[in-house]
Amino acid sequence: MPLVNDCVFCKILRGEIPNTTIYEDDMVLAFLDIAPYNLGHTVIIPKTHCVSSTELDPEYLCAMIKVAPKIGAAVLRATKAEGFHIVQNNGRAAGQTVPHVHFHVMPRFAGDGVIFSSSGVKYDSPEAMQELASKVRTVLAK
Ligand code: AMP
Ligand code: ZN
Repeated sequence: MPLVNDCVFCKILRGEIPNTTIYEDDMVLAFLDIAPYNLGHTVIIPKTHCVSSTELDPEYLCAMIKVAPKIGAAVLRATKAEGFHIVQNNGRAAGQTVPHVHFHVMPRFAGDGVIFSSSGVKYDSPEAMQELASKVRTVLAK
């Protein structure tokens, strides 16, 4: 289990920082977020250090995504939430503040005031949309 000295989530895995664990197995640890969007907001981390999901061993990725909906359903029942997000941020521009891959499970209540809004950006034309899709397909095929 390669962990990194100055990574806050590695410190949690080493037991150097307290956490409120709600689930643990061989591959993952899930605990309550200290700055929650809503009560019950949970963070799921792999038991290995890796910054981005693009670099993470798929076995860890599978272990995290396998447990995320179960945790969401449990948090939903425990908090009486009406829905939940499963979110995973990669890179600072995407809002990643802790450079150790993690999924957020965020419960939602109708009218809770949590806002994730679009920038309102639009494709210039249907052709521009097709062109971008084609570029992404090309990269994927490499
Ligand atoms: P992100 O912005 O996607 O990198 O999310 C990192 C999350 O980790 C934030 O929601 C923080 O509130 C949460 N967080 C940071 N340090 C801790 C900690 N020691 N215990 C629990 N959650 C933490
Ligand atoms: Zn780490």
